[in-house]
Amino acid sequence: MAEPVDYVVVGLGALGSAAAWQLARRGHSVVGLDRFALGHDRGASHETSRILRHSYHTPGYVELTLEAYADWADLEESSGESLVTTTGGLDLFPPDPAISPSDYLASMDEVGIAYDVLDADEVTRRWPAFRLPEGTLALHQADAAIVPAARGTAAMQAQARRHGADLRGEQPVLGLVDHGGAGVEVGTASGTVRCRGVVVTADAWTNDVLRHLDVDVPLEVTWEQVTYFSPAEAARFAPGTMPLWIWMDDPSFYGFPTYGEQTVKAAQDCGGPSIDPDDRGADVVDAAMLERLSTFMGEVLPGSGAPVRSKRCLYTLTPDRDFVLAPVPGHDGVVVGLGAAHGFKFAPTFGRLLADLVTTGSSATDLTAFRMDRPALTDPDYAANWLV
Ligand SMILES: Cc1cc2nc3c(=O)[nH]c(=O)nc-3n(C[C@H](O)[C@H](O)[C@H](O)COP(=O)(O)OP(=O)(O)OC[C@H]3O[C@@H](n4cnc5c(N)ncnc54)[C@H](O)[C@@H]3O)c2cc1C
Repeated sequence: MAEPVDYVVVGLGALGSAAAWQLARRGHSVVGLDRFALGHDRGASHETSRILRHSYHTPGYVELTLEAYADWADLEESSGESLVTTTGGLDLFPPDPAISPSDYLASMDEVGIAYDVLDADEVTRRWPAFRLPEGTLALHQADAAIVPAARGTAAMQAQARRHGADLRGEQPVLGLVDHGGAGVEVGTASGTVRCRGVVVTADAWTNDVLRHLDVDVPLEVTWEQVTYFSPAEAARFAPGTMPLWIWMDDPSFYGFPTYGEQTVKAAQDCGGPSIDPDDRGADVVDAAMLERLSTFMGEVLPGSGAPVRSKRCLYTLTPDRDFVLAPVPGHDGVVVGLGAAHGFKFAPTFGRLLADLVTTGSSATDLTAFRMDRPALTDPDYAANWLV
């Protein structure tokens, strides 16, 4: 006998935990399923910190960040936890950058986000830890903030459970049968759950779940690495004296002020090798990635010190690096949420929008750019570009 519930969420990382919370707080019965134990470090939502920012390359994303800030505030109020640490943020464009500042300027102007344009000397005057090449242009946005990855995800799981959601770890979904208007059956090793709709937030394993519907999304999974450096003078890297930063070039790097410990975290964006998420083995430090990052840190943040530890994490990239936030074509009862390796800042928003889509089939927010039938996901000749 299939167990009847209103909605099932497949994958309880940040996005799925947010969806379970939003569905349960609306009074729906919810079962959340994850293949690993809740809070595991095999996916993309573990570890310490993630960047929350307004600066983005399209007005659509900048608009969506307004919702993200509001949804994080909602989560803080609901959970009673302080989750958003405002530090300010610098987008650093060296001479002849691979990523154009004009998209960021125009997008923030169109939405009305305030920012300062600074040159290399002004950056170093305000934040002396930086050593920037002559001609670097910097956009400083004062609201940029740090949100906690593992702790933020756990906060959303706690809110989901507080509203009655039944979250089950070590329950891999092994089957999915869409009966159209009669609902969807979700198969696990310990039985079948029958529901009105399913939210699939399985990130690197999205196609593992969608293959049960004969659907395949062109995704690239990469094995990323973040590293913590130990500065001799940690106070020079503390929030208030150091903003978070993104190096807008190829390769692209990003980093944080000290956060909960006297270390400076940094990483390369899209610097990791492609990988099968089921074939990654134990976490090992990638020496070449570490060398590349350490060389960069030595040049741009010479006081950041020696690397003390590294942590691996999975990126799941769509060819255009845009999200998936949409029903599966032909399967209105199955909606997919995928953050394209920049979704954590939007996790509470993803949860709210996925709950809208699976319960009503629509959303007040324009999600056209995130449809599953868009050219980047359907045209086999689409030229991938992850550097945005
Ligand atoms: C190093 C790194 C730095 C990042 N920095 C930022 C940042 O600064 N700002 C930002 O906004 N974003 C950032 N991101 C991206 C962001 O972390 C991700 O987009 C987000 O965490 C994805 O969340 P998720 O819930 O979709 O994925 P995950 O957390 O990976 O969750 C997917 C879940 O699905 C489960 N699952 C898979 N298959 C099944 C199955 N068959 N049955 C049941 N469960 C299943 C998995 O066990 C997993 O728990 C970063 C990512 C990485 C890796």
